[in-house]
Amino acid sequence: MYPRKVSGQFYRWRTWFSWLLLAIMFAGPFITIKGNPLLMMNIGERKFVVLGQIFWPQDMIIFAIAILLFLTSVIIFTTAFGRLWCGWACPQTVMMEMVFRKLEYLIEGDAPRQRELNQAPWDVAKIAKKISKHAIFCALSFLVGNVLLSYIIGWQQLMQIVTAPPARHLVGLSFMVAFSLLFYGIFARFREQACTFICPYGRFQSVLLDENSIVVAYDHKRGEKRAPLKRDQTTSERDSIGLGDCVACNQCVSVCPTGIDIRDGTQMECVHCTACMDACDNVMTKIGASRGLIRYASLNGIERGEHLRVTPRLIGYGVVLTVLASLLAVMIFTRTDVEATLLRAPGSLFQQMPDGHYSNLYTLRITNKTAREMPVELRLERPAGSLQIMGGSLVVPPQKQSENSVLVELDPAAMHSGNTPVILGVYQNGKKLQSLKTAFIGPRY
Ligand code: SF4
Ligand code: SF4
Repeated sequence: MYPRKVSGQFYRWRTWFSWLLLAIMFAGPFITIKGNPLLMMNIGERKFVVLGQIFWPQDMIIFAIAILLFLTSVIIFTTAFGRLWCGWACPQTVMMEMVFRKLEYLIEGDAPRQRELNQAPWDVAKIAKKISKHAIFCALSFLVGNVLLSYIIGWQQLMQIVTAPPARHLVGLSFMVAFSLLFYGIFARFREQACTFICPYGRFQSVLLDENSIVVAYDHKRGEKRAPLKRDQTTSERDSIGLGDCVACNQCVSVCPTGIDIRDGTQMECVHCTACMDACDNVMTKIGASRGLIRYASLNGIERGEHLRVTPRLIGYGVVLTVLASLLAVMIFTRTDVEATLLRAPGSLFQQMPDGHYSNLYTLRITNKTAREMPVELRLERPAGSLQIMGGSLVVPPQKQSENSVLVELDPAAMHSGNTPVILGVYQNGKKLQSLKTAFIGPRY
């Protein structure tokens, strides 16, 4: 595919917007909120950070709701605005069209020059151009692969992999090489086919779009019947002989990175990159017709001149979105910084002490979800008795889980026959963080 270079207002806006997105993408791993990264998806360590908030496996319900919320937003957004995301914000499109494609134009020239170069025999100039292009693509793919890896393991760990002897980080290095090769393959060879053959979002769009969705559309009512423009022919002359504004120049097709003809209607391959809109606007300006023969519009907008309508489907999605968003807000708002679980030590029975008291052994696990060290205190609240933490005080390192054995002793007078409910409290600086309920096993009488 040799899409021609495009220029126009949408391309200009997309370029500016892509600079902002690229800046966020490359700076993202280094931005921290309260000492935590902006975004980290460490699947290996089952640790996820979103906007500085750490989510542990215990928070999976919050994570599941967040994913549902994200999917619902995507559905609503796509139903209303089509694949706006693909054209303007998808990292694949931004990197491909705004970085790799621009570099390719810079080194090899516009589409006709690229075609000529590929058909030309291998001489020094061609070898030099091809080597420099692929060397730059390799270096950029390595950079993009490392950025992605730093969103998974954090940039500090990435730096360790880069600076330490290779043998010490074989797994990390393998991922680094795999990501770099993957991105090189996508941006140098596979390109928009990733959007049409691999990306599930692209494949779903046909289900999500309806006749009120805003898409990149050709106004066939205004454009047809298409015919080439004769010398000195005016638009009113064309009108009078039943011709539309489309002058069959094929500019819209020649700039399309997926090689489709938007005049055939909305197609799955269209990534809404707006290139055909710019190309056609340039043609319309030249022939003195109004711009927007290819524009953002809905099918109903073109057929009946209707604007975006709020359909029952959109309202339904909106209600689901509001419920999920409220649920998520409540769960995040009421989420504690510390989460503790207390379980009876496996295989342990009750013990009678020399003073006649009985004891049970438990395992206490505490997860510290914050980025600071968390000294906590465990108190036996009901019934009266005592407890002893094995291994000293409870200080949980930041973003870690601690495990301690806890020995609880009760006076027989406070115990029920066989099984006594026990309540313990987890405190920090005198403030109760959590209550733990468990059973204390004793003799039956
Ligand atoms: S660029 Fe516009 S005028 Fe030219 S073929 Fe495409 S739709 Fe028709
Ligand atoms: S038809 Fe092609 S050029 Fe036009 S928006 Fe879709 S992908 Fe881009």
